[in-house]
Amino acid sequence: MIHFNKPPKVGTEEKYVLESMGSTKISGDGDFTHRCHKWFEEKLSCKKVLLTPSCTQALEMAAILIDIKEGDEVIMPSYTFVSTANAFVLRGAKIVFVDIRKDTMNIDEKLIEGAITPKTRAIVPVHYAGVGCEMDVIMDIAKRHNLFVVEDAAQGMMSTYKGKPLGTIGHMGAYSFHETKNYTSGGEGGLLIINDEQFVKRAEIIREKGTNRSQFFRGMVDKYSWVDIGSSYLPSELQAAYLWGQLCSADEINSNRNSSWNKYKELLYPLAMDGCIELSYTPKECVHNAHMFYLKVKNLEERTQLLAKFNADKIGAVFHYVPLHSAPAGLMYGRFFREDVMTTSQSERLIRLPMYYGLSFRAIEDVCRVIFDFFER
Ligand SMILES: *Cc1c(COP(=O)(O)O)cnc(C)c1O
Repeated sequence: MIHFNKPPKVGTEEKYVLESMGSTKISGDGDFTHRCHKWFEEKLSCKKVLLTPSCTQALEMAAILIDIKEGDEVIMPSYTFVSTANAFVLRGAKIVFVDIRKDTMNIDEKLIEGAITPKTRAIVPVHYAGVGCEMDVIMDIAKRHNLFVVEDAAQGMMSTYKGKPLGTIGHMGAYSFHETKNYTSGGEGGLLIINDEQFVKRAEIIREKGTNRSQFFRGMVDKYSWVDIGSSYLPSELQAAYLWGQLCSADEINSNRNSSWNKYKELLYPLAMDGCIELSYTPKECVHNAHMFYLKVKNLEERTQLLAKFNADKIGAVFHYVPLHSAPAGLMYGRFFREDVMTTSQSERLIRLPMYYGLSFRAIEDVCRVIFDFFER
């Protein structure tokens, strides 16, 4: 049995979680949260970061911060997780889905400008598999049309575009620490990254149920009260403590995943050369974090067959993302800009192979042998 995913665990998490349990403050924004915030603010050199209970909630905060209102339009790919869209739909936005690039599965930056209308407020690029979107082009379009850019970098921690960490290029960015991502804060978690100073103060208020409690704790105001809309967007200290263990080993996790990724690539390269499969492409501007190893086969039928073979051999390979625009809620809350040339056809070809921190070369060889057998090589 080779699992598709195992939650990352380096071994120090337990110690930190127990330490936080023994402290007198286990609700949010305690010592471990501060340590994590400091780590990210140094690493990302951004204006502000805020841990959240999930990436979904970080995206929801971003939608509130840019004041998305009924009838606004938000541009994003259809090939993504539901939260990318839901965060903005919750504020009343209509989603305008733009087709993806075949080579990276990221939003096709060349199509974005055509999808802009007078109602457009924001572009939400999703860095699929931790490989950066063409951010220079996207930021230039946003600037010329006065739009906000919120990067869904759920999969992108430790990845860069032209040397800049993903999530630090748009006005805001969001990471996920769900157990399926490269780093986890004990199963669920996220981070809002703020790169534009104008959002910093209000972000703290929204995260604290619409109160100015953060300012109160810092002694900046003498009482705290309800000052804005907001919700409960603080994770508990136990989550921050778990994450802290992983941040202390961030490079080790990243290099371990990268060596697995490179091993897959090395073993499967001949099959790609023979035209049996297609492997992912990383633009030269991008350094990725080995979040995902995927391959593409000929079509849906071939994918179904290969997945059945993986299943029979007890290998956890999966496909994902039924394109949002064809899902029931996508039909209600969104529309596809022009034609779906790549989104459906390319997503139907894709298979994700087992990938997690600590995956052995032996397991990788077993997975690859199944693929070679399938193609009778
Ligand atoms: C995982 C993921 C999310 C959601 O993250 P949660 O932390 O589970 O809320 C959002 N967008 C993308 C692209 C993701 O991969």
